[in-house]
Amino acid sequence: SSRWSLHGTTALVTGGTRGIGHAVVEELAGLGAKVHTCSRNEAELAECLKDWEGKGFAVTGSVCDASSRPQREALITHASSLFDGKLNILVNNVGTIISKPTTEHTAEEYAMLMSTNLESAYHFCQLAHPLLKASGAGSIVFVSSVAGLVSVGSGSVYGATKGAMNQLARNLACEWAVDNIRVNSVAPWVIKTSLVEHYPSEPGMVNKIISRTPLRRVGEPEDVSSLVAYLCLPAASYITGQTISVDGGFTVFGFA
Ligand code: NDP
Repeated sequence: SSRWSLHGTTALVTGGTRGIGHAVVEELAGLGAKVHTCSRNEAELAECLKDWEGKGFAVTGSVCDASSRPQREALITHASSLFDGKLNILVNNVGTIISKPTTEHTAEEYAMLMSTNLESAYHFCQLAHPLLKASGAGSIVFVSSVAGLVSVGSGSVYGATKGAMNQLARNLACEWAVDNIRVNSVAPWVIKTSLVEHYPSEPGMVNKIISRTPLRRVGEPEDVSSLVAYLCLPAASYITGQTISVDGGFTVFGFA
């Protein structure tokens, strides 16, 4: 039924050419949404768009560095003209990681993580608010991390950006409920993507991760995209302000 369909809806997914964002684009398009996405690499974006067209998905894309304020403004202007000023879904997926001890973090690294992970998501929400409101039924999803809930050795600044995203979901859920915009956050544990292909560098780390994860595996991008899509469906119409972990049980595992 239409409770489990996104037909007739529009979506903006940031960072859709690889990893979790790529899976989210395909999940939403597969459920019938018209999707716009972005990335910094024009050639990779063009290749993805060609591939999606071949799969019959209604996906468009433009180059945008989500850490740049004017480029964020241009992206929303573009999405607004594509979608007639209405947007049902905003997935703030762009994010990056620098994991090093706090005593070694530079001011530049701090600023880069804050602007890429947190400020971009915050500003995209501000910019998209009139479009989400105009759609009559809006849903924002933040791609956060378990690093925003517990300490996982990913670095304190990364963890702080993700914890802030979870709180942003709670605040915006309350502020924008009046506009029928729901706001939620998903918190993945280790997911097999290009972001982590060079991590974990330490030998034995993969086994250490798996031994601390009740389901005894790392996640796939599709493990996350299914939850993101669910949160955008009419079926999730009473869920807002939540942070939901996609972590194989990692955050509830105390002691065996
Ligand atoms: P990937 O690095 O594999 O993919 C990131 C995607 O975003 C690419 O399409 C990339 O394209 C794009 N992107 C990156 N930076 C920018 C930018 N500044 N502007 C526009 N596009 C950008 O990452 P993941 O899929 O692993 O991560 C996605 C999100 O999930 C992040 O927020 C991350 O923190 C979070 N996460 C990931 C986990 C994991 O284990 N993988 C665990 C928990 C959370 P391009 O580089 O061409 O711009």
